[in-house]
Amino acid sequence: FDGDPCQRAWVEIDLKALVHNVEQIKSLLSPQTALMAVVKADAYGHGARIVSEKVLEAGASWLGVATVPEGIELRQAGIDVPILVLGAVNSPEEIQAIAHWKLQPTICSPQQAKTFSETLGNLDQKLPVHVKLDTGMSRLGTFWQDATEFIELVQKLSNLEIASIYSHLATADDVDPTFMKQQHERFQSAIASLKATGIIPRLHLANSAGTLSDQTLHYDMVRVGLALYGLYPADHLQQVINLKPVLSVKARVTQVKTISPGTGVSYGYKFVASKETQIAVVGIGYADGVPRSLSNKMKVLIRGKIVSQIGTITMDQLMLDVSSIPDLQVGEIVTLLGKEGNIKIQADDWASALGTISWEILCGFKHRLPRVAV
Ligand code: PLP
Repeated sequence: FDGDPCQRAWVEIDLKALVHNVEQIKSLLSPQTALMAVVKADAYGHGARIVSEKVLEAGASWLGVATVPEGIELRQAGIDVPILVLGAVNSPEEIQAIAHWKLQPTICSPQQAKTFSETLGNLDQKLPVHVKLDTGMSRLGTFWQDATEFIELVQKLSNLEIASIYSHLATADDVDPTFMKQQHERFQSAIASLKATGIIPRLHLANSAGTLSDQTLHYDMVRVGLALYGLYPADHLQQVINLKPVLSVKARVTQVKTISPGTGVSYGYKFVASKETQIAVVGIGYADGVPRSLSNKMKVLIRGKIVSQIGTITMDQLMLDVSSIPDLQVGEIVTLLGKEGNIKIQADDWASALGTISWEILCGFKHRLPRVAV
């Protein structure tokens, strides 16, 4: 593969790093706490099938997806562990598909619970469902104060079975834990009010940040996405465990040339050479998921050296100032994200340059880039 100059750009997935991250995360969990690997959005751009297979081998026991098609893709790949659909499902077709493919839905409201029950009619086996409480995220779920009534209603529906009760943290990555603690207290009070009813299913609350920051949030399961992929949800959590980034983005030099002083580079001439400059054209662009807004801000690695990107990033190509590597050849590898020697460029670096988060950067790499396991 390395010797194939036709391959213009690709994403490398380091499966050893993935397994390492699972082991690090599991080292924080008590034996009673299951690890759900959140593999929605094609495993945050890493490739859902390969990631799921590897994390299950490494000790995760549940998978979390956002949509029904994402769950079906994993079932079609032969994966048979419990899969929770974290997003809301309301259409009759998707409700039937959930039952057919043995996926497990999130139930967010009494109305949705009734729709599920009516759509499914008589079943040989009750459908396991996961009741979602809104403890402060103001996204999916029934307000925590109404938990008892909501859960009793779901329990009465003869074809549904409550497999878990869960909620999602809004601020677990903040240094200040005040709001996270408030959400936790709301979750606890909802659960306490259930005790009288005798309904005590599996409970879960923590995402990566919750899992890394406070063991009292772990309950019966943690739902971990970002940390699996080797990135920290917040700088202050870097000391907790050692994570290794799983994804690298690489491309090849497709042409090398020298431009004279005063020559503009790329659309709009946002870069003009002040002196004679050797430039390289690289076969990757914004249609692959390299944000155009990184134009003139981005650094890449070639032969272990830092090199600057220049001019506007185009749909399929971008340019570099490679004056520091006079003998650079067509076909040489450029690392856009990843490590060469001791130098690392991480999704977090792009995210901070762009005022966004690493989650968005990872999810942005398009299918046009082949995923290569290394
Ligand atoms: N749980 C739910 C409901 C989510 O929506 C997500 C992702 O956004 C996660 C868990 C995993 O979050 P993270 O990637 O921060 O671990």
